[in-house]
Amino acid sequence: MKILVLNAGSSSHKSCLFDLNPGASDGTPTAPVWRASLDWTHAEGVVELTAENQAGEVYQASLPIADRAEGIAALLKTLVEGRTQVLETLSDIDAVGHRVVHGGRDYQTPVVVDAGVKAAIRSLISLAPSHNPANLQGIEAIEQLLGDVPQVAMFDTAFHAAMPEAAFTYPGPYAWVEQGIRRYGFHGISHQYVAQRAAQMLGRDIAELKILTCHLGNGCSLAAVKGGIGIDTTMGFTPMDGLMMGSRSGSVDPGILIYLMRQEGYSADQLDTLLNKDSGLKGLSGLSNDMRLVTEAMAQGNAQAKLAVDVFVHRLRREMGGMVASLGGLDVVVFTAGIGENKSLVWQRACEGFEFLGLRLKADLSRAKDDQDIAAADSAVRVLVIHTQEEWAIAQACLALLRSHRA
Ligand code: AMP
Repeated sequence: MKILVLNAGSSSHKSCLFDLNPGASDGTPTAPVWRASLDWTHAEGVVELTAENQAGEVYQASLPIADRAEGIAALLKTLVEGRTQVLETLSDIDAVGHRVVHGGRDYQTPVVVDAGVKAAIRSLISLAPSHNPANLQGIEAIEQLLGDVPQVAMFDTAFHAAMPEAAFTYPGPYAWVEQGIRRYGFHGISHQYVAQRAAQMLGRDIAELKILTCHLGNGCSLAAVKGGIGIDTTMGFTPMDGLMMGSRSGSVDPGILIYLMRQEGYSADQLDTLLNKDSGLKGLSGLSNDMRLVTEAMAQGNAQAKLAVDVFVHRLRREMGGMVASLGGLDVVVFTAGIGENKSLVWQRACEGFEFLGLRLKADLSRAKDDQDIAAADSAVRVLVIHTQEEWAIAQACLALLRSHRA
């Protein structure tokens, strides 16, 4: 089956086409036959389109397209025309899977998109103002372009939906519970995929494992996965809670916001920008949200860059400790996403805090091409570096859902 996956964001879209053989997967990800992206961040009204097929043929263009649906049409054209062509016609696509950031309280598993699902995604826009509108536009653009092809939505919040009440409830007034002001958690597709992949790599049944997954990219979050279920996580009502991130502060004393409003006259929009765009690695280092640039500056003696990395690691370790307590033990730590997959300094410094549990890393921490175990042979806890494969996980969910619908 040919499954297209679309991850539509506010300023960029990523897409992949998988050719999957139903029933043949052993849980090991397969590479897409085509992948493409749209990026509107370079110049006003212009989109950078990049497409690549399995044979390594690449197409790149800067197109004068501001409209998202038009951008998706141009992206899909590279599936059926030119050097990256992999399909005769777009009607060869059997299904389309979408990453949708917020599924609220109701969507705890992937669903086939219908009018009710679209209305629900729309109704959750106030909780995910920069993501859910883009996700919905992606679904509607596919409807326009591919007609009644089955579409599936997989929610980033869904994996965390089974958290116990005590983990998802904020200690505000009870009215918050009734209003849906609670911890939802995000990056769920990634946390779920890497936890399952960890069990597969270790040849263990996930039902018997306590896994701490660390998704450390531009956005950062942890999840405590016990018996395959997400029982705690660091992101909350919004993706701003928890760990320090590229340009987001993560958790800060809410009193700071009241102080800034009272003393400095900050508006809600100004606070939003401050905490989402001007904080984290970027805010503290004064340089960049990119860990590579910040650690380079640190190596050259930049004191602010050093402080940014020190705070990043301190917060990471502290929250990891919280997840270990929620799990009541620890069998596996997984590092994933841009920083988690590449930064040995972060592996080392984060794990130093857990040596008392018998966690020991290998002496040689060079990055392998494939998913790897970086724990020493005698470590009491396995530590895995796993490349997150959210698109493949969405394609699998799509396949499973469509097969169960047809059965
Ligand atoms: P993601 O959101 O998963 O794409 O991750 C993006 C972040 O990962 C970037 O902002 C970088 O800080 C970080 N990153 C990506 N590649 C590397 C690398 N090779 N070494 C260290 N950090 C990296």
